[in-house]
Amino acid sequence: MLPRFTFLGCLAASVTSATVACARADSQSTDAIAAEAASVTSAPAPGPRGSLTSTASDTGRAAPRPSESSFGGRDFPANELGRIPVLEYHLIGDKNATYERTRQGLRDDLETLYRRGYRPISIAEMVDRKIDLPAGQSPVVLVFDDASPSQFRYIERNGELEIDPNSAVGILIDFNKKHPEWRNKTVFCLLPTAQAGRAFFGDKGIEGQKTAWRFQKVKFLADQGFELCNHTLYHARLDRAGDRVQEFIARGDLAIDSVVPGYKVRTMALPLGMWPQNRELAKRGSWRDPKGRTVTYSYDAILEVTGGPARSPFDPLFNQHSIPRVIVVGDSAVTRTLNSLEKHGQRYVSDGNPRTVAKPAQTTALRH
Ligand SMILES: [Zn+2]
Repeated sequence: MLPRFTFLGCLAASVTSATVACARADSQSTDAIAAEAASVTSAPAPGPRGSLTSTASDTGRAAPRPSESSFGGRDFPANELGRIPVLEYHLIGDKNATYERTRQGLRDDLETLYRRGYRPISIAEMVDRKIDLPAGQSPVVLVFDDASPSQFRYIERNGELEIDPNSAVGILIDFNKKHPEWRNKTVFCLLPTAQAGRAFFGDKGIEGQKTAWRFQKVKFLADQGFELCNHTLYHARLDRAGDRVQEFIARGDLAIDSVVPGYKVRTMALPLGMWPQNRELAKRGSWRDPKGRTVTYSYDAILEVTGGPARSPFDPLFNQHSIPRVIVVGDSAVTRTLNSLEKHGQRYVSDGNPRTVAKPAQTTALRH
């Protein structure tokens, strides 16, 4: 069950050296919304394939690990029109649930992806078609929604802050140290001021996280090369936001800009996958703050909540303003998704040449 997200106070936003005045927003229960979102069809659940058979349920039992030879033992033809899994994570904790993945589960997912020849790209790289991978490798996008403390936690020791190795960022940084070619391209879709610590990864002592640490965390992510994505001000449903749609979106960008001045937020994730009545306002818009300043926003990518692996950006049907994702639910979700792509010949496989787009039967020169 999702927490109730409530506007908790003003976030000082220093964009263009002014401060955004805060307005009290209506608190809103998202329980019903969560139920609604959970009923939306998720990624296709295809049958297993050969030695990659997975029989575990999604309730937390350990899934069989794919064999070590699952990648490299087979020849995948170059296919740059194949699909790209955009994997969606929420809480990282003790159990597997619709919106929670265990810590070990996340580590296992990274190992599975790595072993099977997947390497991370950001959403920005996806829409820019900058998928520069060695021949035979495949892109994957990891996205963390909601900026909870479980994703980025500090531990204070003798006045020094250490990244909790059991938070998602700690796990990702460790993985990058072990495998330097697993770049820090994970995408974080941020909430600056929602309830239950979903406020730039924790505030007010929730899970031991101090309000003063929030900006340091967001800045760290930007400095390390992770992509920052806007998930709106506090997760209100945009389909019910009425005339406040643009305010909720603009203030998400403003909050990021207050931490990393000048950061161009290129990706926006729809809270619960709900579009505003006027869809165009999700892509671009503007908001006039109480001081008369006008803030504009415009996104190169909009993330849905579900829908399965995304089309290649080289596919003429790729829609960067509606990129589907796969919620990682349970221990078999990643394996099942990868198996399905292979089974249907839909795995994106790089040809190693960024100047060409390889199709399964031919290679076509890019027109720049
Ligand atoms: Zn969310």
